[in-house]
Amino acid sequence: MRGAVIHAPGDVRFETLADPKILKPTDAIIRTAVTCVCGSDLWPYRGLEPAQEAHPMGHEYVGFVEEVGSGVTAVRPGQFVVGSFATSDNTCANCRNGFQSSCLNREFMSTCQAEYVRIPNAQGTLVATGQVPDEQLWPGLLAVSDVMGTGWYAADAAEVKPGSTAVVVGDGAVGLCAVIAAKEMGAERIIAMSRHEPRQRLAREFGATDIVTERGEEGIARIKELTGGIGADAVLECVGTAEAMRQALRSARPGGNVGFVGVPHEVAVDGQELFFSHVGLRGGPAPVRRYLPDLIDHVLSGRINPGKVFDLTLPLEQVAEGYKAMDERRAIKTLLKP
Ligand SMILES: [Zn+2]
Repeated sequence: MRGAVIHAPGDVRFETLADPKILKPTDAIIRTAVTCVCGSDLWPYRGLEPAQEAHPMGHEYVGFVEEVGSGVTAVRPGQFVVGSFATSDNTCANCRNGFQSSCLNREFMSTCQAEYVRIPNAQGTLVATGQVPDEQLWPGLLAVSDVMGTGWYAADAAEVKPGSTAVVVGDGAVGLCAVIAAKEMGAERIIAMSRHEPRQRLAREFGATDIVTERGEEGIARIKELTGGIGADAVLECVGTAEAMRQALRSARPGGNVGFVGVPHEVAVDGQELFFSHVGLRGGPAPVRRYLPDLIDHVLSGRINPGKVFDLTLPLEQVAEGYKAMDERRAIKTLLKP
């Protein structure tokens, strides 16, 4: 089969790779229906994560079950399935507590920009749709496997409540999906922080009521101005930089919450500041598996369409161009079709 391999920063190639095989009874092999490039894939692409040897890429997937190990009974060959970037047995204590992305048997997906993918912990990870969904719904279901699930967790962790005011920091695919989540959870006012016109438009379409273009101290001042001087009830941090985290913590009101889902890169939280802010803080890799059945229903019923975050579609063999377009901000998110 063929798939994407990163050799060095800026150097992604489409290559012939060994076909994945069942290694454990709990594995399944899927044939990829669609996959994509994630904002977090840009960290190694930009050389901002320690250089490693050449390795495959990709952690988002929906596809058709090809083969299952002897311990997998929840899905069967031919079914269309959605999973998560973090696999989970869905039975251990952490899974039962709803934090499947901290599963005691967790394995992170890392080979999904390929024609076939091995899914560890398939029994607990994969959720089959009732029938093969219409192809136009595949992008939305793919979004559910990562960015929509992550945006949902940001809103959940920030405890967005009906009638509340939510601020979304970050206008990447996760931030835009976080707007959808805040709206679904009943936020009355959703302030999206974005400087890019096409992303502002999508944020509004997804439910943002206000757009703030300022950043840094000006951004914090603008949020205060829009929230009666005290800050927002819920802030959804969807970037992972020190600046974004500072923006998030200082935009929440005393007693408000920050949900942070951007993978932190050189983020340090000041203990004194956090203590006196009275702000609650929860983040981490999203327990997407907890939300899958519900979010799959949301997409299949047409209630939400997070697939709109894909504004560039390429054949999988042009994966290198998919990275380049996102790196140069010509695309929000690239959909790849095998
Ligand atoms: Zn588990």
